[in-house]
Amino acid sequence: MKTYDYLIVGAGLFGCVFAHELKKVGKSSLIIDKRSHLGGNVYCEDVRSINVHKYGPHIFHTNDKAIWDYVNQFATFNNYINSPVSMSKGKLYNLPFNMNTFYQLWGVKTPKEAKAIIEEQAQKYGVKNPKNLEEQALSLIGKDVYDTLIKEYTEKQWGTKATELPAFIIKRLPVRYTFDNNYFNDKYQGIPEGGYNAIIDGLIKDIDTKTNVDYFENKAELDALADKVVFTGKIDEFFNYEFGNLEYRSLKFESEILEEENHQGSAIVNYNDSTVPYTRIIEHKHFEFGKQNHTVITREYPQKWTRGMEAYYPINNEKNQAVYKKYKDKASTLPNIIFGGRLAEYRYYDMHQIIGSSLSKVKKEIESFNS
Ligand code: UDP
Repeated sequence: MKTYDYLIVGAGLFGCVFAHELKKVGKSSLIIDKRSHLGGNVYCEDVRSINVHKYGPHIFHTNDKAIWDYVNQFATFNNYINSPVSMSKGKLYNLPFNMNTFYQLWGVKTPKEAKAIIEEQAQKYGVKNPKNLEEQALSLIGKDVYDTLIKEYTEKQWGTKATELPAFIIKRLPVRYTFDNNYFNDKYQGIPEGGYNAIIDGLIKDIDTKTNVDYFENKAELDALADKVVFTGKIDEFFNYEFGNLEYRSLKFESEILEEENHQGSAIVNYNDSTVPYTRIIEHKHFEFGKQNHTVITREYPQKWTRGMEAYYPINNEKNQAVYKKYKDKASTLPNIIFGGRLAEYRYYDMHQIIGSSLSKVKKEIESFNS
């Protein structure tokens, strides 16, 4: 008899949801994480009573009522609606691309006028089957929006030419012919009151956890504790990089406490210009409508990723996808290890998608007990 049914490597949303569901059917887990805290990248740090999103801004949004109900079991969500602005050559524009943005860019006052400009530019600069981010953006929204709000931000964010990035990345952003600055199209949206730690605490209640534990340094010993492993770390690292390195983009965060009530009037201000080294400034208190006399801001700097650094964004180009496929095929030959989450599935996942993926994988696992 092993001590646990499952060893869960990584205390992010994927692992915590998985362990929570297993617990409901009487299976035990040990969750380990190499960081000094649980929660993975949704972890919030309390800085003078402001929840600081330590690993970048996390705004929960989903169209799936089941997932919305799922997270609402653990926390009450406020009615925060993400509506960032973007600074470009000294002027602020609303995001996502909507009638406010088009008015700011061209002075157009009706959807018809905006559509006429975008269609003309899309025809002139766009292509039929966009194969990369630049072609996709030009075909979708035209050259002015691309030049003002996309190109420099994207190339700074990814450290790559927009012509070498996959088209799907830009499709994350809505294009709208209404005066609506909501960054997401999803039906449900908000920030958990008390921060994301409340959700993690709810998920791992009565489950054993250990922080500051490096799986790879103690692998044999840790594996011996459980019948099965759920691995949520980097899949290439798991296989000791035998098919080569997957590429990621990393980030550096610089936070500052300011003795003023309201610094920038928005939780997120993007900086498009390539001359500014950061992509955005986060003012965390606005996620929870904070009324403190002070504020905390964080500048987010994209970084070249090398081994040993935090891997934030998978770079899903063709080359990396081909490498990932080799790891995935190999992973599927290991019946006692379940791979899941952003790093193990090498996917640009949002929180609701991770939860969806974890719930569906754990469901399969539970069904397998009876077959
Ligand atoms: N993007 C952009 N300009 C912006 C914001 C985003 O061109 O002001 C592009 C950029 O390529 C980015 C992608 O849209 O990587 C997705 O943006 P999102 O805000 O979804 O990124 P995240 O918050 O996940 O970093």
